[in-house]
Amino acid sequence: MQIHKYDTVIVGAGGAGMRAAIEATKRSRTAVLTKLYPTRSHTGAAQGGMAAALANVEEDNWEWHTFDTVKGGDYLVDQDAAEILAKEAIDAVLDLEKMGLPFNRTPEGNIDQRRFGGHTRSHGEAAVRRACYAADRTGHMILQTLYQNCVKEGVEFFNEFYVLDLLLNEVDGVKKTAGVVAYELATGEIHVFQAKAVIFASGGTGKFFKVTSNAHTLTGDGQAVAYRRGLPLEDMEFFQFHPTGIWRMGILLTEGARGEGGILRNKDGERFMEKYAPVMKDLASRDVVSRAIYTEIREGRGCGPEGDHVFLDLTHLPPEQLDAKLPDITEFARTYLGIEPYTDPIPIQPTAHYAMGGIPTNVMGEVLLDNTTVVPGLYAAGEVACVSVHGANRLGTNSLLDINVFGRRSGIAAAEYASANDYVELPEDPASVVEEMVESLRNSTGTERVTEIRKALQETMDANAMVFRTEATLKQAVSDIAELKERYKNVSVQDKGKRFNTDLLEAVELGNLLDLAEVLAVSALARKESRGGHYREDYPTRDDINFMRHTMAYREVAADGTVNIRLDYKPVVQTRYQPMERKY
Ligand SMILES: Cc1cc2nc3c(=O)[nH]c(=O)nc-3n(C[C@H](O)[C@H](O)[C@H](O)COP(=O)(O)OP(=O)(O)OC[C@H]3O[C@@H](n4cnc5c(N)ncnc54)[C@H](O)[C@@H]3O)c2cc1C
Repeated sequence: MQIHKYDTVIVGAGGAGMRAAIEATKRSRTAVLTKLYPTRSHTGAAQGGMAAALANVEEDNWEWHTFDTVKGGDYLVDQDAAEILAKEAIDAVLDLEKMGLPFNRTPEGNIDQRRFGGHTRSHGEAAVRRACYAADRTGHMILQTLYQNCVKEGVEFFNEFYVLDLLLNEVDGVKKTAGVVAYELATGEIHVFQAKAVIFASGGTGKFFKVTSNAHTLTGDGQAVAYRRGLPLEDMEFFQFHPTGIWRMGILLTEGARGEGGILRNKDGERFMEKYAPVMKDLASRDVVSRAIYTEIREGRGCGPEGDHVFLDLTHLPPEQLDAKLPDITEFARTYLGIEPYTDPIPIQPTAHYAMGGIPTNVMGEVLLDNTTVVPGLYAAGEVACVSVHGANRLGTNSLLDINVFGRRSGIAAAEYASANDYVELPEDPASVVEEMVESLRNSTGTERVTEIRKALQETMDANAMVFRTEATLKQAVSDIAELKERYKNVSVQDKGKRFNTDLLEAVELGNLLDLAEVLAVSALARKESRGGHYREDYPTRDDINFMRHTMAYREVAADGTVNIRLDYKPVVQTRYQPMERKY
């Protein structure tokens, strides 16, 4: 076992981790630990854009952006945080521009902007052009730009290091951050990183669904590690289903396609969104559009022999516009479906896309143990975190914004904390939990296979915890997951070696997915209302009296070793916007 010592350790090299690293490296000795090569992080797959009220092409201001974010999140958003997000968006985009990001331009040479779902002028009057973009490769450009700037700043990366545990130690009755434990893929060696401050920026957890836009690696490792160390997870029942995934595959076709004028049609060729959202139509918020698609399908207006999808129609848009603004996704349609989007509509269905919930933080990125208590030295930013700026439903283009705004804030805050505080002593035998986990998987003679359990998990999540939920489906999910967790105890890996043992790590990742899926289902079962991405057919309306509050889920181990999920709640921060009925 090797021991390393850094002031600040960042877990993850996606947009949030690298934006944090640029700040932290200037202020403290910083290491970035990442299970993927930085430029392979999922941020690089983001397509459509990053929101900021630059008003480059039409009138806009950050206050309208704040309102849209709060309304888009169905009033579960913490409004103080949304205000920071929208205000700091402008500098966040300009910072990236100065770092060298090649945004699309207007004829006058300004950063161009396009429409996106739920982004409006004057509190809902009409759609506004707010998304800054680089064709449909915005995330790729952000990731490359941040990586180049990390190299320039001399950020130290530990690539293909999997963080599997968080070290906390009690000082004067308070649990403080002591470091993390990581597994090195190349050697199978275990490394302890002692740190004064740790930032989790390890991304999302969409892989517990089958039809998803998320990469294979999005297994919620950061959320699971924190949760197992007794920290809460906030609002895990809120998961976003993006309306336009490629039918059956889930591969994303950006909302920018509808921002450029694309239209959704049912089997009769009808532009059905006009019925559900008379003003914003195809650019209503994602939860609204995804429910509308499934309503069309359920009522028999779906397309194809099985009636199980609808069409994204781009055929009325000039081919030059598609080539200039949407080159990647039109190519996806050709490659994966053999369809020519110039002339034929593209079959789509909603796809599991984004975790609104995660590790609770305040606006400095400090991790919260409850409503007010912070865990000294611990930070989280990006999709792993819940600030909460997305509430019950995130607006498109607000995540690339979130990772930049709160990545930067947490990088500064963590490095300042590290400069002002001493190391906390490492707990005794710091690597023991990870060693035991790894060895028991490697030596297991069980008969269960990772791929089979993962498939069963994804099937029950798609069937029971997706766009439409009821008490019965969620109970089914909870009991299926419990059964799968029992089977997981008997899981074994075929590769018993130490070098590049991805088999072993996939088993660890599956354990994370099982824990997080259970938290999602249990939190969803308790929320007897419909809000944003969480839709209960048995409680179809929003209930502000009983549920205008954030869920906080804690893992508790009883004296006899049984594990329970305890749910608590946290108030929503409201500043200037009173909850209203949500119409688009
Ligand atoms: C296909 C797709 C398109 C999208 N398009 C848009 C868009 O146009 N606009 C928008 O705003 N949002 C978009 N999103 C959402 C947005 O891209 C993500 O929410 C955001 O990029 C997440 O950034 P992140 O830095 O939090 O995580 P990621 O970019 O996922 O990075 C996570 C990092 O953590 C590391 N990591 C994970 N686990 C461990 C571990 N155990 N140990 C060490 N390291 C670990 C990984 O190696 C990786 O470097 C899109 C998402 C997808 C999937």
